[in-house]
Amino acid sequence: MVATVASKRGLTPYEEVNLFFDQAAERLKLPDGMREMLRRPWRELRVQVPVRMDDGNVKVFTGYRVQHNAARGPYKGGVRYHPLADLEEVRALASLMTWKTALMDLPYGGSKGGVQVDPALLSNSELNRLTRRYTNAIQHLIAPNRDIPAPDLGTNAQTMAWMMDAYGAIHGYTPAIVTGKPVELGGSLGRDAATGRGVSCILEQAAKDFGLDLSKTRVVVQGFGNVGSWTARLLHEMGCRIVAVSDVQGGVRNARGLDIPTLFEHHRRAGGFEGFPGTEAVTNEELLELECDVLIPAAIDNVITGRNAPRIKTRLLLEAANHPTTPEADAIFNDRGIPVLPDILCNAGGVTVSYFEWTQNLQEFKWEEERVNTELRKMMTRAYQSVYQRATAEGITYRQAAFEIGVQRVARAVELRGFV
Ligand code: GLU
Repeated sequence: MVATVASKRGLTPYEEVNLFFDQAAERLKLPDGMREMLRRPWRELRVQVPVRMDDGNVKVFTGYRVQHNAARGPYKGGVRYHPLADLEEVRALASLMTWKTALMDLPYGGSKGGVQVDPALLSNSELNRLTRRYTNAIQHLIAPNRDIPAPDLGTNAQTMAWMMDAYGAIHGYTPAIVTGKPVELGGSLGRDAATGRGVSCILEQAAKDFGLDLSKTRVVVQGFGNVGSWTARLLHEMGCRIVAVSDVQGGVRNARGLDIPTLFEHHRRAGGFEGFPGTEAVTNEELLELECDVLIPAAIDNVITGRNAPRIKTRLLLEAANHPTTPEADAIFNDRGIPVLPDILCNAGGVTVSYFEWTQNLQEFKWEEERVNTELRKMMTRAYQSVYQRATAEGITYRQAAFEIGVQRVARAVELRGFV
């Protein structure tokens, strides 16, 4: 297994995700035409995003919106601002959204957007102008019943407010056009924490099946943005010992456990971990190889590869980022008997609460936060159990089980619609 996958190195992220898809399609015995149709995006748009910079010069960025599949409902997926957000990456992420929304049984398809830009290098007003131009460039492809963007890496509630405003300037007030908005503009209570909360629900369930005592569980989290920081805070609240965390510049560790609320405040004020007392600095590479019970990559894709997978010392891998593990590394974990709970399950809390936000906007009715969290927990638990049971019954990995459930649902919807 390792050798065959290893020989296919050099694949793009989209081709890598499709290796997981192909395994599912094969086991489900999908006919060739159906496979082809489910593998490839239904529609792709590449746009130019010219921005007047604060110094008066114009810079031209490239943006994408990839609509992978809408058999089960409108396309749904975030918008990423990142220097590596090229077409192949956005395609990979769009396809993951299709399998994720299907696994969660949300009435959505899958899409993703991206602008190839480092948002840290732009001022707030430059980001505002870039977001408006990008929204204008894709506005004819999105709508509350067509395609609904949301935040992803490098974007946040403010970005969604700008998108909603730019879309509204053309189409009139339309809060359901994006999710992950500020609460003051129709965002849902609990959306900000939702992905991290979803990860915590998965760990709570997994602890029972994998024999982990949460109060003794040592957790390492890579990434301290929205997903990583909420994951660390909620797991710390649950009694886990968070032994190391990092952001893009590097991280800190303390084998006895980090005081996450104080560390979070320090990080917010200082813009990094430096100077936090009682900790030792670690690089991102070192962090992934620290001994722990649960390793949670919560930053970018492709961080766990054939190179470092043999050295990773965890009992369980929970993928909070999208596509953090290459197929080669996935096979190594399988051979080493380390269970991997896949991205389309672990990080689905975000899109699940996006769904709650969209329904609240369509009904013009607000839910209390407790209702959001209770419903989220129910849906995460149900999805976890369906994956766990299928994997156990069929003797396949959790990733294979998750993909099979998702792919089977999308294939069924295509069949029922009868459009081929
Ligand atoms: N960007 C998040 C994801 O990858 C959330 C998407 C959404 O809420 O639509 O799942």
